[in-house]
Amino acid sequence: MGSSLGLYNFLLLKGHTINVVTPNNYPTFLNWMPGNDTVTRFDSKRIEASKLIEEADIIFSLDYNNLSRIEDAGKEVEKAKAVKIMIDHHIEPASYPDYTFSDVNKSSTSEMIYDFIELLGEKNLLNKTIGECLYAGILTDTGSFRFPSTHSSTHRIVADLMELGVDHAAVYNRIFNTYTEDRLRLLGYCLFEKLKFIKEYKAGYISLSKEDLKRFNFQAGDTEGFVNYALSVAGIRLAAFFSEQDGIIRVSLRSEGDIDVNLMARKHFNGGGHANAAGGRSDESLEATTQRFENILAEYKDILK
Ligand code: 5GP
Repeated sequence: MGSSLGLYNFLLLKGHTINVVTPNNYPTFLNWMPGNDTVTRFDSKRIEASKLIEEADIIFSLDYNNLSRIEDAGKEVEKAKAVKIMIDHHIEPASYPDYTFSDVNKSSTSEMIYDFIELLGEKNLLNKTIGECLYAGILTDTGSFRFPSTHSSTHRIVADLMELGVDHAAVYNRIFNTYTEDRLRLLGYCLFEKLKFIKEYKAGYISLSKEDLKRFNFQAGDTEGFVNYALSVAGIRLAAFFSEQDGIIRVSLRSEGDIDVNLMARKHFNGGGHANAAGGRSDESLEATTQRFENILAEYKDILK
């Protein structure tokens, strides 16, 4: 959302007609971003969103590199006549776009939107509105500047954004200090009762059933970041998070160093992502999925032992 609304606000200044379409809902802690009110959700406004995709002259694919990632909207993008431009930082970009700006070393697509604007020679158009969106994208995708994907270039860009007037503390508060009490209790429940360690394989995971989510009035975004907690224990190098949502099991994987969870997600969970942060899904039950995860660990015993 940060990269999309950052680019949206930039292209508005250039006099274009822009529509941001998202495949489904996204966390409410992002809905303060300038332009949020104009976003069209494909899953709830299918006809309107399909028309926007069909009639577009240019379609930007931002922060995903495969049409399967945008679910049913992918079919519409595939058949659209528009020129397609991908800007993304995930591994193995698909070949459908006419133009691809892909860099797996970048912290975030938001950082790449900054680069894109700079490459266009339009840095003078950057302003606080664009900056707030890009800062939000960089802040969240770098885990508040702690992931290895955070480079000196990331900090230089952030310094520029602050000079445009972006209030970093205010953006942080809007994102990380606006949760519900239910979400905080859900985190407590996960850490106290649901976090399981398999120390032999330096791994830990949390699994939540749909009943667990219902009990804590789950809303989109509530479990964002929960997967990381297992890694905070000394010696743990692989973490997973499983949740039962919309009839499937959503899988999040995180790792340290040379443990490639992108490969694990591709091979076992019909997903992908980055080497140290990936996701996917499972059509099996929650129990079968977590059991499968535990069984998979043996495959990685040489690096996890
Ligand atoms: P998260 O665990 O936060 O949902 O996702 C971690 C990373 O993996 C993100 O960069 C996300 O884009 C990617 N990812 C999550 N789910 C999938 C998936 O089903 N397929 C692919 N290819 N990537 C995913």
